[in-house]
Amino acid sequence: MKQRQLDALEQWLNERNPNQPEFTQAVRELYADITPLLEDEPAYQDASVLQCLTEADRCIEFRVCWEDDDGKIQVNRGYRVQFCGALGPYKGGIRFHPSVNQSILKFLAFEQTFKNALTGLHLGGGKGGSDFNPRGRSDREIMRFCQAFMNELYRHIGQHTDVPAGDINVGSREIGYLFGQYRRLANVFAGSLTGKDIEFGGSQVRLEATGYGLIYFLREMLSASDTCIDNKRIAISGAGNVALHAALKAIECGASVVTLSNSDGTLHDSNGIKADAIKQILKSKQRPDLEKIAKDTQADWHSDKKPWQFDCDIALPCASQNELDESDAQNLVDNGCSWLAEGANMPCTEKAIAVLNESRVANAPGKASNAGGVAVSGLEMSQNANFASLPFEELDERLQAIMKDIHNQCVKHQQTQENGWVNYRQGANVAAFKRVAAALIAQGIG
Ligand code: GLU
Repeated sequence: MKQRQLDALEQWLNERNPNQPEFTQAVRELYADITPLLEDEPAYQDASVLQCLTEADRCIEFRVCWEDDDGKIQVNRGYRVQFCGALGPYKGGIRFHPSVNQSILKFLAFEQTFKNALTGLHLGGGKGGSDFNPRGRSDREIMRFCQAFMNELYRHIGQHTDVPAGDINVGSREIGYLFGQYRRLANVFAGSLTGKDIEFGGSQVRLEATGYGLIYFLREMLSASDTCIDNKRIAISGAGNVALHAALKAIECGASVVTLSNSDGTLHDSNGIKADAIKQILKSKQRPDLEKIAKDTQADWHSDKKPWQFDCDIALPCASQNELDESDAQNLVDNGCSWLAEGANMPCTEKAIAVLNESRVANAPGKASNAGGVAVSGLEMSQNANFASLPFEELDERLQAIMKDIHNQCVKHQQTQENGWVNYRQGANVAAFKRVAAALIAQGIG
């Protein structure tokens, strides 16, 4: 495919998706990386394959009315984007956050489609959520919101149709409320959601999977650079499920975690944040007070700094999309960082990626490095289908094997680079695109 054709496609994309900057960013990144592939592979040169893959199968938008603790009716907007079902039932998380809108969910569902393809499992791509802000809401309010959300969503999902899971602000408590309401309305007990409690069909390792998988992927990146994780200093952003489990696994592997963060600021300890403090955050049901943890553990607290302003060997952005910009990437380069793996989805801006690539910082896209969560979700679905419960060790080994395989796909599908530097983004995008596009072509493009 010629650059001219790609420019025309980009124009087509922008015209069809006005005011959707996150979605067009995600698509642009993929188009740019696969351009060289399209030149040598006639099967994919037909622009209609790309056009099909940038239009969601369907976007469902609905009203969610629920009663708050004062008896007042609140109105939110709910969404489910079923992006591509060519490889299996739509699969992807649900996010509750005031920033949620169609652009964000379309970008997440687009990314999810290719991430799920990299796992090698039979999973299509989707994502859902609401602009509901759970901060400051009581447990009963969360329950009523989840039930109201499911009152509409239930008709669009099912174990063979679409299988949601958690994402930002949707953890095991919310999945429990969503699953309960699904079961009542559909009158079926099936694996129609993943991330459930172990007692009612959940899987071992699912809770830890995204963070652990990120570290398993990172270990492969380090070994490709002939080094290992031992004694490396890792800067992590975020203090949610992904960040905390990644931090614990990294410490277990001999690294030191020098930062964690939230929207209030950054916790920094150049000697390494203690595993006990991280375990305490995980145990607490409250939003972590990182400033208090800094005081209790003699770490430093910086309300005005991001994790990328501190010395580190490795950066793991695990908070949110576009959290790491061009100047953050430059800080990382200046502070000695040589590897970056995304725990969040699309946390690096396009300009940040350009800085990392120019400086030859090995950087892995979320669709590869954070695929561990959805991979274990896929294993939860197959356990549910067989009424089976596999042991922790077996699932952890399968997760390690999947992350290793994703790493190998990235290395294999990139264009070979000078001095052994691996272009993980290109490798991931090309490998994932080939699998999804081949399925679309084989099933007959409509
Ligand atoms: N929200 C997670 C992700 O971004 C997990 C999705 C799932 O398990 O379906 O991959």
